[in-house]
Amino acid sequence: MRLPILMYHAVDRGPQGARSPRLYVPPEQFEAQLATLQQLGYETISFGDWLAFRRGRATLPRRPIILTFDDGYRSIGEIAWPILRRFGFGATVFLVSDLIGKTNAWDPPAPPEPLLGAAEIAEMQAAGICFESHTRTHAALTMIPPERALEELTTSRAVLSQLLNAPVTVLCYPYGKQNLMVRALAREAGYEAAVIARRRMNTARTDPFRLTRIWIDNRMTLARLRWTLFRLRWLHFA
Ligand SMILES: [Zn+2]
Repeated sequence: MRLPILMYHAVDRGPQGARSPRLYVPPEQFEAQLATLQQLGYETISFGDWLAFRRGRATLPRRPIILTFDDGYRSIGEIAWPILRRFGFGATVFLVSDLIGKTNAWDPPAPPEPLLGAAEIAEMQAAGICFESHTRTHAALTMIPPERALEELTTSRAVLSQLLNAPVTVLCYPYGKQNLMVRALAREAGYEAAVIARRRMNTARTDPFRLTRIWIDNRMTLARLRWTLFRLRWLHFA
């Protein structure tokens, strides 16, 4: 079984002069990408489905895929979600627990981007969108003392579990920064899996605290998306 996980940030046109244009995928490009995934036979699953499968407690569709969105931008609710629904696709959104309903304060001097609020999260959750942790303040976990990193991990997990009234078991390392210590802290804090950015498919042998994701940005053409998925599925056996 080979599982691709795609990594998105904002689905939007992006403000003029945005510091990080790579964080934005325009809506029509996103829609065309979902159409391509559907044509290729992909069906979305959740991290819970994948973890249950790894424990031998669930079966998966023939071509499973997980769609993820980092940071919880409000555009995910306003723009990406209606498109996802049209295709019957689910997704997982990684939230920064201190900044629900605020802006991406960790990213100055970029123009502030609004983040999803509690009401929007509840509405999306009721419709099957999954929410997991992107820590409490979006701190780079390898750059702060271990006890602070552990606090980021445990507090965000507790706050989000309460907000969602559901267990939070998956972590997205801010800036993708992780090491042996951070992975151990994540396990200690009660997470069951965590994601990084690396262009690979996941297999039963992949470290659950280093599940790999394919970064999708506005340079990902449909031809490149098809080729990337084909190549990783059939030609890469690392
Ligand atoms: Zn982030």
